[in-house]
Amino acid sequence: MPFRAVAFDVDGTLYPNAALYLASVPFFLSRPRLMLGFRRVRRAIRRVRPIEDFYDLQARMLAQELGVDTEEARRAINRRIYVAAERVLSVVPRFPHVRETVERFRAAGMKVGLLSDFPLGDKLSRLGLEGLWDARVEAEQVGYLKPHPEPFRAVLEALGSEAGETLYVGNNYGYDILGAGAVGMHTAHVTTRPHRNSRADMSFFRYRKLASWILEREIR
Ligand SMILES: [Mg+2]
Repeated sequence: MPFRAVAFDVDGTLYPNAALYLASVPFFLSRPRLMLGFRRVRRAIRRVRPIEDFYDLQARMLAQELGVDTEEARRAINRRIYVAAERVLSVVPRFPHVRETVERFRAAGMKVGLLSDFPLGDKLSRLGLEGLWDARVEAEQVGYLKPHPEPFRAVLEALGSEAGETLYVGNNYGYDILGAGAVGMHTAHVTTRPHRNSRADMSFFRYRKLASWILEREIR
C-alpha cells in the first residue's frame, strides 16, 4: 500500500542532533540552571493531563523549578530558550539530501508535513527547507507534547490523511516511533543504531535510503 502522506519530526530528524548539541554548548554553559530546569520541566510536562493552557503550565512549572515568578520564567523561555534554539541552527547543516527527498515525495503525489515539540519559528528558512510543506504542526499549540496522541492526530488532520496511510519519520524512539505507532501510523526511525526488535517499519540514517524505501513501495 502506498503512503498518502509523510510527516517529519524536525530536531534531530531534518538535521543531526549531535551538531545541535555541540553548537548549544556555549549557551548551555552560560545558563546551566535555566537549561537543566527547562529539561526537567519538558520531561515532567509530558506526563500531565489534561492540560488547559500548555504555555501557562510550562511557565508555572519552570518558575517553581527555578524559584522565580511565572512571568520571569515565561520571558526566559521565550527570549532565551526558543530564540537560542533557532539561532543555533544557522551554524547547523541539515542532513544531506533532505530537501531533494521531500521534493521527490511531493512529485510522487504525497502530502508532506511537519510535527515538532518546539516552535518552528524561522528554523525552516535557516535550514533551507521552506516552501515544501502541506502541514506544519507545533505540538505545544495542540496542548500536548509527543508521545501524547493529540499532536499526531493534529498533523493527520492537517494533512487530510488517515493514520494507516501515513508515515511518521522521527529520531526519538520513545516519543516519535512509539507515539506515532500508538495512533496507527507507519514509522521510520532516523538513527545510526537501529533498535533490536524495533517497532519502526524501517530505520535509516541516509535520506536516500528512506527515499528509495518509500518510492519503491509506491509503485508496488
Ligand atoms: Mg527529534
